[in-house]
Amino acid sequence: MTDLTLIPATNAPIPAEPFIGKHLIDGAWVESADGAWFERHSPAHGDLISRSAQGGVAETEAAIAAARRAFDAGDWAFSSGADRAKILLKVADLIDEKRDQIVLIETLESGKPISQAKAEIDGAADLWRYAAALARTMHGDSHNSLGPDMLGLVLKEPIGVVSLITPWNFPFLIISQKLPFALAAGCTAVVKPSEMTPSTTVILGGLLQEAGLPAGVVNIVLGHGDPVGALMSTHADVDMVSFTGSTGVGKRISAAASETLKKVSLELGGKNPQVIFPDADLDAAADAITFGIYFNAGECCNSGSRIIVHEDIAEALTEKVVALSRRVPFGDPLDSKTQVGAIISPEHQAKIDGYVKQAVAAGATLALGGAALDLEGMDGQFYGPTVVTGVTPEMPIASEEVFGPVLSVLTFRDMEDAISLANSASYGLSAGVWSRDVHICLTFSRRVQAGTVWTNTWMDGFAELPFGGVKQSGQGRELGHYGLEEFLEVKTVQMRIGDTRAPWVA
Ligand code: NAD
Repeated sequence: MTDLTLIPATNAPIPAEPFIGKHLIDGAWVESADGAWFERHSPAHGDLISRSAQGGVAETEAAIAAARRAFDAGDWAFSSGADRAKILLKVADLIDEKRDQIVLIETLESGKPISQAKAEIDGAADLWRYAAALARTMHGDSHNSLGPDMLGLVLKEPIGVVSLITPWNFPFLIISQKLPFALAAGCTAVVKPSEMTPSTTVILGGLLQEAGLPAGVVNIVLGHGDPVGALMSTHADVDMVSFTGSTGVGKRISAAASETLKKVSLELGGKNPQVIFPDADLDAAADAITFGIYFNAGECCNSGSRIIVHEDIAEALTEKVVALSRRVPFGDPLDSKTQVGAIISPEHQAKIDGYVKQAVAAGATLALGGAALDLEGMDGQFYGPTVVTGVTPEMPIASEEVFGPVLSVLTFRDMEDAISLANSASYGLSAGVWSRDVHICLTFSRRVQAGTVWTNTWMDGFAELPFGGVKQSGQGRELGHYGLEEFLEVKTVQMRIGDTRAPWVA
């Protein structure tokens, strides 16, 4: 593997003392009643990064009760959009101010490269600003054509208490895709970050307080899916669950929430295809494919983990991707040159390797990689850039989420074949098409089953554009005004004008 671009350990300092995280309940930072704590070590360096209070039923119930009281009191729900926007804008400014601290902890807990963490925190601040604009511009409808004596109003109201449950791969960005939109709508919230990456959500809690958010409007409980997330999904005082994470847990949450018929919004996994036609700009496609598979070490719902390439150009394109893969810097996340960092846990690293070994045993070929990386001076887990060719649709690597830096290459003959392969997975998060022919791009875009389609590009994202999945990639949308609508309920008000109602009783 010496022909790869590897970044050894830097001497960048890691904080000597771990970050201490407590629950934020009704405006107070508290430890768990039973005194339980859990720790997170850097997946790249092995150092202890954080100690967090480990929540249980008592903390979760207290947080839900605080959010319920804050919502029912009405001060937040009925505050003006202008007042809510002022707080959201202040939070965005505070994120900018505290950027270095957030970036460092995010990098150390997740293993992602520090340059990428910076971009994510900047992107998150932008989302708080965008949601502030939505808070001031949201409105319902009026119906003035129901007859001379009737006026109809459609009010948009906050849905109530929302549970926000987030994963470990983009901790600060994903909570920022949910929380500012929920707050803009006038909801109150209970937040649970992943047990792997709790600390930047705790920092955010401090920023919310500093920005003047009233006590109880946002509560944070640290801990595991069971019992914290599970109770947040079943409790009768919660009106909605917004979850980002695996499809398996999403299904469990959906089933658990059905007991109380609470609304559920799910952002789940993906097995995202990029289809490359022979007339495509192969250099541009190869670069985007390389980005799509190695970004965040492939631990990304939008990972472009399977390419479906026309058989006439498959070899040429694969060669280009392999050559580019060797140039991507893998290594110490704290080095600003690194583009791919560590894998989140040893268990996950073993799972990634298992998919690769299974594919090779079933007849696939390794064009590159297929093994862990041993990096000088590092005490964590890293997986090498991996390109697997000769993948067939029945192999698990072709249809399941590997969530690692592992690209599967499949081939097609014509458009029908390409569409059928692209739509063969149970997921439907995102898809891409590469061709210089706009008709090919549009035909593919219309027929592929995905929430987002990129044509001649990959993984661009904008606060203005909705994001979410179809099929088993989820339900509901984040971002854009759709992201706000998720947290709003519709109320119809019908008003009679004057004394015109004919009596029902003769
Ligand atoms: P995960 O499903 O294991 O955990 C996500 C969160 O759910 C964590 O906070 C966890 O503690 C909690 N949880 C676990 N069990 C629970 C339960 N029974 N009830 C309630 N909460 C529970 O996911 P992960 O491993 O943290 O993240 C990776 C997954 O997230 C991948 O599948 C990825 O595709 C998906 N993801 C999707 C998007 C998207 O926008 N579609 C974005 C990022 C990640």
